[in-house]
Amino acid sequence: MDIGASMLIAGAIGAVVGSIITYVWRFSERRQNAVVETVPVIPAGVEAVLAVLPSSTVLIDSADTVVQASAPAHAMGIVHDGRLHPEELMTLVRQVRRDGQVRQADISLQPKRGTTSYIHARVAPLGSRLILVLADDRTREQRVETVRRDFVANVSHELKTPIGALNLLAEAVAEAKDDPDAVVRFSSRMHTESERLTRLVQQIIDLSRLQNDLLSDDATTIKVGELISEACEHSATDAERKEIDIVATVEPDLFIHGDRAQLHAAVSNLVENAVTYSPEGSRVTVTATHVDENVRITVADNGIGIPNEELDRIFERFYRVDPARARATGGTGLGLSIVKHVAASNGGSVEVWSEPGLGSSFTLVMPSYNEELEEEQS
Ligand code: ADP
Repeated sequence: MDIGASMLIAGAIGAVVGSIITYVWRFSERRQNAVVETVPVIPAGVEAVLAVLPSSTVLIDSADTVVQASAPAHAMGIVHDGRLHPEELMTLVRQVRRDGQVRQADISLQPKRGTTSYIHARVAPLGSRLILVLADDRTREQRVETVRRDFVANVSHELKTPIGALNLLAEAVAEAKDDPDAVVRFSSRMHTESERLTRLVQQIIDLSRLQNDLLSDDATTIKVGELISEACEHSATDAERKEIDIVATVEPDLFIHGDRAQLHAAVSNLVENAVTYSPEGSRVTVTATHVDENVRITVADNGIGIPNEELDRIFERFYRVDPARARATGGTGLGLSIVKHVAASNGGSVEVWSEPGLGSSFTLVMPSYNEELEEEQS
């Protein structure tokens, strides 16, 4: 082979080897890139730790994209379309990314129109590229706190009225010491106000005991007939004064199981309201029947009735349809709230029907109790 041909062959071999080397190098580089791309962004072991945390978790990368989010985080509404929401939470993430300082905040969300939920969020850096968001749903706690605050504010307001009245009346009595008739008049009003105060305080105590709607520990078997007689008796004087007939019709052998004192308070409140909101000379009926598995205790009147739009609100604490009238009748606005909680704490419920001008009917529905059957089953 001459030198020219050898050089040509060597050149060709060189070119082939060169292209193989280039190909292999490019291939290896591509593989390397591919390896970089598929390296998991979440550090090893982190997922397992996040899985056992009680909080909802979200991991955000440096491009503000959600890399991983637990199912409750989606359900809570802080992650959708691969992004973190709301903007307030995103701002927190960016601040943490900037200075590496752990931050926390209470944030409100509107997951659906007209609903607000509250979360407590903690944001921390995770490694050099990720930000971890831990979120806890605090909606229930927030609601309880709002209800508690409103309750305390209402209680203070409601207590101030009779206490203020007693103060003024006491001054009036002192000033009228030479006028025996005035002293008798003022002291009778003092008596009314102090009764109102006593009733209010008792109802507040009843309500705070009932608030958790926990099943009562003091459950006994109650003869429905007795419960109703006692409730009618409780309002007998008021009914007599207004010439209102209270007519009770009770099926024989009806029994319920529950806290006697609580259920007495509930049925008495219903009868008392029926008498209070009925005109003179009218009739209030109390019936107890066995329907399916339940005992239905219905108190019906032909009184002023309740507008339809108020029906949802009358079970709220301190709510009165007509506050001015309530002041005159001595109503506290707590009676129906107590009825509702008593029902819930004793495994029952309350139903209401009312029509302004026609009257109202309130039904306490309680599971019927059959002692023999219960003994057989146990
Ligand atoms: P109150 O002490 O004011 O009666 P309740 O909680 O028992 O408080 O009742 C709340 C409101 O519901 C009352 O102020 C009244 O406006 C209305 N209400 C309750 N029962 C009746 C009824 N039988 N007829 C008409 N209105 C009623």
